[in-house]
Amino acid sequence: MARSDALGRYRSKRDFARTPEPKGRAGRRRKAPRFVIQKHDATSLHYDFRLEAGGVLKSWAIPKGPSTNPRDKRLAMPTEDHPLEYGRFEGVIPEGEYGAGPVIVWDRGTYRNLTTRDGDEVPVEQALEHGHVKVWLEGEKLSGGYALTRTPIGGGGREKWLLVKLADDAADARRNPVRTQPESVLSGRTVEDLAAGAG
Ligand code: MN
Repeated sequence: MARSDALGRYRSKRDFARTPEPKGRAGRRRKAPRFVIQKHDATSLHYDFRLEAGGVLKSWAIPKGPSTNPRDKRLAMPTEDHPLEYGRFEGVIPEGEYGAGPVIVWDRGTYRNLTTRDGDEVPVEQALEHGHVKVWLEGEKLSGGYALTRTPIGGGGREKWLLVKLADDAADARRNPVRTQPESVLSGRTVEDLAAGAG
């Protein structure tokens, strides 16, 4: 797909005269790819997990948010590719617009691709097409290995993935950052702060 078309789905869902979200342009690959997790209090609260790959942010909506416990399997529903600059977006998407509600940058950082096949690294875009990617996150709240795996699609359903913490030194079943660290890593604000400010 041409780079210029990569954000077609993203743009078609939004009215940029009304939403403060970036219109965006597909970017070039950078040396250390970034990840971001945005807490988004839309129709239902969820965490948008985004990985930079192929000049865009590959995206999943995770209703319960990420866990630091390798025993937890967190449902991750794929959503449209977002522009790289979306990774800095915080704000309130207006009533009546797609995804209406407050968004904060809950965590962000760089990541390394850990996906291999027969000892060789599999590029992230290819790994995602195959339905399985392993990454090492270097965030402010989250770190260490995570696996994202596509699950078989049941009758008539949407594609579903699972996000699971890998068992490494950063795994910690006693932590629960989604509950204990609700604030933005950019501004210190919560989605409730943003909603109150907009009201
Ligand atoms: Mn969202």
